[in-house]
Amino acid sequence: AASETLLEVNNIEVIYNHVILVLKGVSLTVRKGGITALLGGNGAGKTTTLKAISNLLHSERGEVTKGSILYKGERVQDLDPAALVKRGVIQVMEGRHCFEHLTVEENLLTGAYTRKDGKAAVMADLEMVYDYFPRLKERRRSQAGYTSGGEQQMVAIGRALMSRPETILLDEPSMGLAPQLVEQIFEIVKAVNEGEGVSFLLAEQNTNVALRYAHSGYILENGRVVMEGPAGELRENPDVKEFYLGMS
Ligand code: ATP
Repeated sequence: AASETLLEVNNIEVIYNHVILVLKGVSLTVRKGGITALLGGNGAGKTTTLKAISNLLHSERGEVTKGSILYKGERVQDLDPAALVKRGVIQVMEGRHCFEHLTVEENLLTGAYTRKDGKAAVMADLEMVYDYFPRLKERRRSQAGYTSGGEQQMVAIGRALMSRPETILLDEPSMGLAPQLVEQIFEIVKAVNEGEGVSFLLAEQNTNVALRYAHSGYILENGRVVMEGPAGELRENPDVKEFYLGMS
């Protein structure tokens, strides 16, 4: 049985600076409990799609000029990012963005700022995050700015988990990381997906890794979805092999 649809992006168009049309009608669906990959090369529109969903385009002079974005059937495109977090959707931005002068643990705790369920629940979730990221427990008193790129990516995901999200929008987790670390991060994403039931919409240029961990995927080219389907089918698709997996 197909699981519940959480996020539904219907034919959205995004324009920057009133003139630059970047998304030309993008539609996608994120189902509960799934890992959905949003794939495509540099500049295809992955980040723009995630920012459109979490309403982060305004500061970049971008706007959704057509289409709709629904979460559990309700229109969310006019909500501010904090209101969206309350509905259970949080974005982990590309480039990680830790608070460099705070410790790893303080960074994680900032992720719980919207919660009203008390300190004990927050501390229990901190332990939950440390269970998924043992490395962060070791580094918990280190200043985040002095941790490695991989550790900062872990902090960014861990901080998102501290808001107890239902869905995480994860932008380019592999960026700048060595292959072994990329694999480690995806293993943790998978563990969180299976262990906590968190759904992921994951933007990635690394098609190979993403399609091994995702359940389904969309490939964006030049602001349009050109292919979509179950991850296993995309992996076997000759065009995907030739243009994205480099093994035709
Ligand atoms: P990347 O992996 O490089 O982030 P992407 O698929 O996420 O690629 P986007 O960042 O969404 O792509 O960019 C899509 C297009 O929109 C690119 O052509 C980019 O130059 C353009 N673009 C992005 N931000 C802006 C902006 N603030 N103003 C104008 N154009 C922008």
